Amino acid sequence: MNPTPSTPTPSTASSASGKPKLALYWAASCGGCEIAVLAINEKILDVAAAFDIVFWPCVMDGKVRDIERMPDGGIDVCLFNGGIRTSEQEYMAQLLRRKSKVLVAFGSCAHEGCIPGLANLSSREEIFQAVYGNGQSTENPQELRPQVQTHTPEGEILLPYFYDTLRTLDQTVPVDYYLPGCPPEAENIWKAIEAIVSGKLPPRGTVLGPTTTVCDECPRKRSEKKIQQFKRTWQTVPDEETCLLEQGLVCCGIATRAGCGALCPRVNSPCIGCHGPNVDVPDFGARMMTALSSVLDANTPEEIERILTEGIPDPVGVFYRFSLAASLLRRSRLRKKEVGPGGNGGNGANQPTGSPAVEKASAARR
Ligand code: SF4
Ligand code: SF4
Ligand code: SF4
Repeated sequence: MNPTPSTPTPSTASSASGKPKLALYWAASCGGCEIAVLAINEKILDVAAAFDIVFWPCVMDGKVRDIERMPDGGIDVCLFNGGIRTSEQEYMAQLLRRKSKVLVAFGSCAHEGCIPGLANLSSREEIFQAVYGNGQSTENPQELRPQVQTHTPEGEILLPYFYDTLRTLDQTVPVDYYLPGCPPEAENIWKAIEAIVSGKLPPRGTVLGPTTTVCDECPRKRSEKKIQQFKRTWQTVPDEETCLLEQGLVCCGIATRAGCGALCPRVNSPCIGCHGPNVDVPDFGARMMTALSSVLDANTPEEIERILTEGIPDPVGVFYRFSLAASLLRRSRLRKKEVGPGGNGGNGANQPTGSPAVEKASAARR
């Protein structure tokens, strides 16, 4: 899942000004990770003082061709948020990988696919039907769909190709570090930046965060867990001191990497797992299912079935809310007719990378 990165160790003084160069990019994301960078408040001035920010499309004008003209490894650090859904995002991931000494998968979308990755339960056509079909808020009697190439009298209009499968950043290019969270908390972003500036980075491939679980940071009282019924959050007002899981709420703190200070349980809300799995857990959902199985107070398969179906009507949404794209499941099976020309449900592209249309569309966006 995490290909071995092949880039050299970062130099922190590579520009003419003597400052290291920083790039930030967003792919298939909600924009929350960009806002999270600004949540470090006035420390953003320290970031600006420590780095030459060479590329940050959300905040400042910049041209992809300027990045293309840089030497390989010319960017010291790239904070990349968002998963890879389109040919343009794939191109940018490859370009920024090549140009960056250190590539950080920033936030849950880049790390594990996050909420956009839940669309891996559907095919490209099903997603287009939901978005562009005749839904409750859409009127599209001609059933028009976005095209990669559209010929008009004025010229050719090109759009990036939308893949069947959302991929995580490290399913697309080698990644050096991961900063978990949806979005990462400001103090953790700052700690990561400090580590980069001081050159005190852990071994490549590391998730920048503790190796304990949210339970270890949670102040709630715990005793033996015996669950006879799971409740949805709207069905109960939990007491503020006892473990939420013991009160029947599905709290993912038992499987989730620490680092947020148990933010959600502290405000009486169960952890939903945004920091991803703890160290050495390859599949978050499988870990959660194992953990919950061990606390069910049931003696027959029928009782277990009742507890699970009544209390967890949306197992994928509960167990793989953030990690479906990175999980062993990765996506629902694509039927043959759903896979486009050159289709490949495995790598997520239903039009081969490098096809003339995709290349043209990528070039046109530069
Ligand atoms: S990780 Fe969360 S906050 Fe960041 S882009 Fe994805 S959905 Fe938005
Ligand atoms: S409330 Fe959640 S995070 Fe806190 S101890 Fe219980 S399971 Fe762990
Ligand atoms: S408690 Fe869980 S869901 Fe909430 S911020 Fe922490 S890791 Fe994310």
